[in-house]
Amino acid sequence: MNGISIENTDDLEIKYNIEYCNKILYKKFNFHHVENICWINNGYEEHCYEYCYKCAEKELEKSTSVTKSVNRNFKKRGLDTFELPFLDGGWDGAGSDCGGQDGPVHCEECGITLDYSLSSSGVMEECWHFLKYGLEKINDEVAFELYSIFESCSYNEYNVEDWKKLGRLAKIVLEKLGEIISSNTEVIDLD
Ligand SMILES: [Zn+2]
Repeated sequence: MNGISIENTDDLEIKYNIEYCNKILYKKFNFHHVENICWINNGYEEHCYEYCYKCAEKELEKSTSVTKSVNRNFKKRGLDTFELPFLDGGWDGAGSDCGGQDGPVHCEECGITLDYSLSSSGVMEECWHFLKYGLEKINDEVAFELYSIFESCSYNEYNVEDWKKLGRLAKIVLEKLGEIISSNTEVIDLD
């Protein structure tokens, strides 16, 4: 990728604001509403839905009974049967093992927020969204979205313009939270 990582950006204000912003968000807000990502592995298809643990267990039951019934059928016809599905994920940081996401991830069944990490383009997509529509009120849910942007961006590389946008967003968040910011972050044009 043609870009620079946050360690190598020579704009120390941007780096400061982004890192400080993430620390503050983590400290000030409660992310207990966020659950680890789970999914069902069932041998014959790639996992494509994400669930919270509770819903994943229910989903596993359904998926198991479907597989069993398919297997009974296949057995009768002398065909190879499928392995039974199992529940996967569920550990801390499982979301980052799923590859980066393009936006926030919610449980497919109950809609609860899951612990995701954003892809490189997902970071900029989310950043653009907040810069464009602004920040009304930062509650736990919004704070987690912002936190994910700043957390995920540290794993990726971006060009100077994108770092400026991320720095600008960090500055807006810090201002909103009444925190001391490193000033001089240049105001950038969104379009
Ligand atoms: Zn759920």
